[in-house]
Amino acid sequence: MIYFALAFVRRESILPPCPPQESISQEHVQQLGQERRGSLHSSGGRFVLSPKVQGLRNRLIKLMEDHIYPVENELCKLAQSDKRWSIHPEEERLKELAKKEGLWNLWIPCDSAARVKQVISGQTRDGNANTAFDELLGAGLSNLEYGYLCEIMGRSIWAPQVFNCGAPDTGNMEVLMRYGNAEQIHQWLVPLLEGKIRSGFAMTEPQVASSDATNIECSITRHGDSYIINGRKWWTSGAMDPRCKVLILMGKTDFNAPKHRQQSMILVDINTPGVNIKRPLTVFGFDDAPHGHAEISFENVRIPTENILLGEGRGFEIAQGRLGPGRLHHCMRLIGTAERGMQMMIQRAISRRAFDKLIAQHGSFLSDVAKCRIELESTRLLVLEAADQLDRLGNKKARGTIAMAKVAAPNMALKVLDMALQVHGAAGLSGDTVLAHLWATSRTLRIADGPDEVHLRTIAKLELRRRAKL
Ligand SMILES: Cc1cc2nc3c(=O)[nH]c(=O)nc-3n(C[C@H](O)[C@H](O)[C@H](O)COP(=O)(O)OP(=O)(O)OC[C@H]3O[C@@H](n4cnc5c(N)ncnc54)[C@H](O)[C@@H]3O)c2cc1C
Repeated sequence: MIYFALAFVRRESILPPCPPQESISQEHVQQLGQERRGSLHSSGGRFVLSPKVQGLRNRLIKLMEDHIYPVENELCKLAQSDKRWSIHPEEERLKELAKKEGLWNLWIPCDSAARVKQVISGQTRDGNANTAFDELLGAGLSNLEYGYLCEIMGRSIWAPQVFNCGAPDTGNMEVLMRYGNAEQIHQWLVPLLEGKIRSGFAMTEPQVASSDATNIECSITRHGDSYIINGRKWWTSGAMDPRCKVLILMGKTDFNAPKHRQQSMILVDINTPGVNIKRPLTVFGFDDAPHGHAEISFENVRIPTENILLGEGRGFEIAQGRLGPGRLHHCMRLIGTAERGMQMMIQRAISRRAFDKLIAQHGSFLSDVAKCRIELESTRLLVLEAADQLDRLGNKKARGTIAMAKVAAPNMALKVLDMALQVHGAAGLSGDTVLAHLWATSRTLRIADGPDEVHLRTIAKLELRRRAKL
C-alpha cells in the first residue's frame, strides 16, 4: 500500500493549463509523452494496470489534450449565450471521434454487458451469436479498471458526455442493463448506448426531504393498461438537454405497502402530455446548460403499464443497484477534478510573484500544496479500493467503502480547489478560469446522490455492526 502511495506521489501532473491560454512548452510536451508511454505502476499488485487499460488511458489522455481542452472555451461560450439550451456541433463530432478511438461506453461493467447480450442478442437464424450490439457494450472493463479512465474524464466538465460516460446517463443505462426487459432495452437502452438520446433520473421532490427516499409523494396509479403519474420533481439533471427523451421516475404505486415496497420506477417518455418542464435550476449561478437541472411537474401523465421497471414495489431494490456504480463514477471524476485544480495551482504558483518571491517559494504554499497532494492520493486509493470491492463483492458488501469514497472525494476536491482558487487570487473567483465552475460542481456532490450525513450514517452503522459481532 505504501509503495503504491509513493508511486502515486512521485507521479507528476501533466495537464496543460486549461483551457490552454498559451502554446504548450516543449518541456511540457515531453512530460506528456512520458505519461502516455509510461505505466502508472512498474511492478505487481492489485492496482496494476493491464496493458489494455494502459493503452486506453493513453488514447484517452491524447484525445483530451488534442480535442477537448482546446474547445472548452468554445463550448462554454455557447452554454452562456441565448442559445444555451442547444448542442454545439463540436460535441457531436467529438462523440464520433471517441467511438472511432474505441473510447465509447467504457463505464460498462462486464456483468451488465453480459446480461444485455443475453437478453437482446440471442442467436441469429443461422444459429450464430448475434454480435450486432457488441461494439456498444464498452471495452469489457471492471469498475476498478474504469476508475483509472473515468478520473481522466473528470478533468474537464465537458469530457464525460463525449465518451458517453456522463451522469445521469450511466446510472440510467445501468438500470436498464440490469433490470430492463427486451422491449425496454430496445426502445431506450440502445439509443442511449448509441449516444443518440440522453436521459434524466427524477426522484427528488421539492416538498419533502428526499435524502430519505421513503418520503417521496409522487403517485403512480394503475388505470387498466396505463399508469397515471401525478407529482412534482426537481433537480432532474439532464432534463433540459434537447436530446433528453426519457426519464426514469421514482414514485409510489402503493402508499399502504411496507415502507420500502411502496416505490416503483417507471420509464417516462419526456414528450408525454402532462410532463411540464417548469424551469432550469442554478447551482451558485451556473445552470449547467445545455444539460441543466429541471423542475418538472407531472399532471395526469398516462404511461403504458409495460414501462414499469422490474415490477411494482421494486423501486428501492433498483435504487440500490443504480446508486452504487453511478455514485462511484462521481468520485472517480472528482479525483480528476482535483488533479486539474492541483495542476492549475502549481502553474500559477510558479509563474506569479508576490513580495519579491514566486508564490511557490512562500512556506505557507509549500505546506498547503503538500497537504493537498496527500489528501488527493489517499482519496484516490479509497476510490479505487471501493471500485475493486464493487467488482469482487458486489454493491451490497461494498456499500460501506463506497459511502466512504462518496464522502471523502467531494470534500477532498473542494479543499484542493479552494486552495487553487486562493492561489489565483481574484482571478480564481472569476469566470476566466474553470476553477469556479469545478468548485461549484464539486460542492453539489456533498449533497447530490445523498448528503454526506446519510453516507456517514451508513459507515457508522456498519462499523457498529461489525464491532458488535466481535
Ligand atoms: C446539482 C444537483 C444535481 C442533482 N441531480 C439529481 C437528479 O438527477 N435526480 C434526482 O432525483 N435528484 C438530484 N439531485 C437532488 C439530490 O439528490 C438531493 O438534493 C439530495 O438527495 C438531498 O435531498 P434534499 O435536497 O431533499 O435534502 P434533504 O433531504 O431535505 O436534506 C437536507 C439536509 O438535511 C441533513 N440530513 C439529511 N439526512 C440526514 C441524516 N440522516 N443525518 C443528519 N443529517 C441529515 C443534511 O445536512 C442534508 O443536506 C441533485 C442535486 C443537485 C444539487
